[in-house]
Amino acid sequence: MKSLARCILILLTLQAAPHAFGKNAARLASISAPASVSAPQSSQPPASTPDAAAPVAPPQTSERKVTAYTLPPDLYRKARDLGRFHARFAWIDFFYGIFVLWVILSWKFGPQFRDWAESVSRNRFIQAAAFAPLLLVTMAILGLPSAIYENSVERKYGLSIQSWGSWFWDWAKGQFLGILLGIILVAILYAVIRSSPRRWWFYFWLVSLPIAVILVFIQPLIVDPMFHKFEPLQEKDPALTTSLETMVQRAGVNIPPERMFWMGAGEKTTELNAYVTGIGASKRIVVWDTTIAKMNTPQIVLVAGHETGHYVLNHIWKGLLFAAVFLFVLFYLGHRTIGWLLRRFGTAWGIRGVDDWASLPALLLLLSVYSFVANPVQSAVSRYFEHQADQYGLEVTHGLIPDSSQVAAQAFQVLGEVDLSDPTPSPITVFMFYSHPPIPDRIRFSLTYDPWDKGEQPEFVK
Ligand SMILES: [Zn+2]
Repeated sequence: MKSLARCILILLTLQAAPHAFGKNAARLASISAPASVSAPQSSQPPASTPDAAAPVAPPQTSERKVTAYTLPPDLYRKARDLGRFHARFAWIDFFYGIFVLWVILSWKFGPQFRDWAESVSRNRFIQAAAFAPLLLVTMAILGLPSAIYENSVERKYGLSIQSWGSWFWDWAKGQFLGILLGIILVAILYAVIRSSPRRWWFYFWLVSLPIAVILVFIQPLIVDPMFHKFEPLQEKDPALTTSLETMVQRAGVNIPPERMFWMGAGEKTTELNAYVTGIGASKRIVVWDTTIAKMNTPQIVLVAGHETGHYVLNHIWKGLLFAAVFLFVLFYLGHRTIGWLLRRFGTAWGIRGVDDWASLPALLLLLSVYSFVANPVQSAVSRYFEHQADQYGLEVTHGLIPDSSQVAAQAFQVLGEVDLSDPTPSPITVFMFYSHPPIPDRIRFSLTYDPWDKGEQPEFVK
């Protein structure tokens, strides 16, 4: 969920931190980024030759009895070190993003781009179409070291198996999408600022709502296929689809096989995952090929049960609602403080006022800070949805697959081993960045959740 709010924010704020979002959903924890609205998320993950380069051995423990999240000593060390890296990187990436914006402001890139844009045309939209790409590309290039550093670590740990050429191509595609959207949003933002200097934040927020819905709708149709291959699951794996249909019927919901997709993640990453994405006619469950390769059928059914939970509990819509509240506060704070920031530094930065194109990096600076400060709230909401989905997965598979709580524990164990989930994450890191409960907690919950034993009604699947 975090990824959703964050992605929309980033899309709306033009990728102030182009590499931060989605990441946490995909990396710090697992099974499913329920609302992956992230072009560049897909672009950061990694890869090259799936066969040779992949050092991740198939999990040996996939059918061993699991009582807690455990790893052999070498994997334990790797997972813990990688967890620490991600935690450190989340902070580094934020401060580096702020540093990039500060460089842009103090070197007066904004005023130079604005002068040029204004000299091109008197038409405001054409000015936006000149100014926004210049600023975004500058930010992206200055932000590149951070992205390259992260991917190099992912490669070192064997999670990324994507060649640098392919990685860079994904990066470029992500930037291209960001620029297209950026032109539209910047044009709207400054039109609104000019026509309503006091209420622009509210009107821009209003406009951002339908845009966010459209983005979520087109994500699986247009954006995702630019980064990965998708096939109907039914064609790729008819037997699995049949097993999933049985589970979906047990859930008493209508998720036709046309809404289940196979994704070719294995050419870029060794990690496994599954997710729910889209809205209305584009809503779907997506299972990565790596998940199908590394889990047995009951475990995949469990994972799909979790995703069905997101689907049935309408987590995408609820996430959008949360994002709307989040953006409302964010834009209001931006409005309340941008005047102060420009009075204080505007002259030094060569910015004429809020309605100057050149004020954009200053606004992005503020929004980045507020958004980062809001991380714990976004993460907590996301973890809550994920926990609900975990519970749903346990309920819907109860009585359907033998010893479903043990199967769930095994599925999380496999997930943790393959994705190198941190066995002992620091509580601060979880509080700040974890979009999912830590794997040890998810395993503990799977093994202890048992309303049936107490003669109680399960909450979601009666
Ligand atoms: Zn999930």
